[in-house]
Amino acid sequence: MHSTATRVQAFIGDPISAEPPVEHAELERIFKDIQSDIRFDHELNGCLNCGICTATCPAAHYYDFSPREIVQLLWTENLEGIYDAMQEKIWACAQCYTCAARCPFGNSPGGLVMLMREVAIKHGMQSAKDVLRPFSRVMLKLISTGNQLSPDMITPDHFADWGPNISKVDAPLKVLRKAIPMPTLNTTETAWEVNLKTSIELYTIWEMTGVLAQLETIDENLFDVISDIMDEKREDYEDWLEDQDDDEDDD
Ligand code: SF4
Ligand code: SF4
Repeated sequence: MHSTATRVQAFIGDPISAEPPVEHAELERIFKDIQSDIRFDHELNGCLNCGICTATCPAAHYYDFSPREIVQLLWTENLEGIYDAMQEKIWACAQCYTCAARCPFGNSPGGLVMLMREVAIKHGMQSAKDVLRPFSRVMLKLISTGNQLSPDMITPDHFADWGPNISKVDAPLKVLRKAIPMPTLNTTETAWEVNLKTSIELYTIWEMTGVLAQLETIDENLFDVISDIMDEKREDYEDWLEDQDDDEDDD
């Protein structure tokens, strides 16, 4: 199985699917979608063009990617440049937020990249489809069951790549494990057993927040598979509710 970094590298190394020429009105719509997000003003306060963010960025070390360039494109409202960056460069960011911790203006280039990614998905850009395609199995699992992390999953054995820092996370978890008595949160064995009611609530969240609509724009087949799973679970839940009513009537 390839790591995320390998997949991103593979994607970046590939020739990018040629995009059709984009009308200026579409470039404006894309920028407006980025700029109108409630996080935009919080994450972009100006830019000195100092390059500190790029100097500390691990992705800039390995890829043709610079957070300084991304911030400058947004700050100067360079619509064509923003669109070009969304075809490839924004997918190189590792979302580590080292840049946000160092920027003298309090900008968050990593956060701005996340906004641009979300807008790339919303607009069904080919770059978003190409990057997310290898993760369709992960998305299937996450969207259909959610992602539950039980305290006993966070151990040095499970996260060998965290190195010695795992002890900082592991130590308070020993206290947390004792403080969280619910059996469903306690162990790896039970954490993936999502009950029907929780699943239905999760699906409502996906629908109300627009996650499913976004998925449909980038992977219609996956959207269909997940929709079928959701329909089945909703029917199972309705049946379960009816059984409960029947039991109550019998009592
Ligand atoms: S969040 Fe992205 S842009 Fe910022 S330092 Fe990390 S990899 Fe670089
Ligand atoms: S975003 Fe911040 S750190 Fe990066 S170039 Fe602009 S002012 Fe400097």
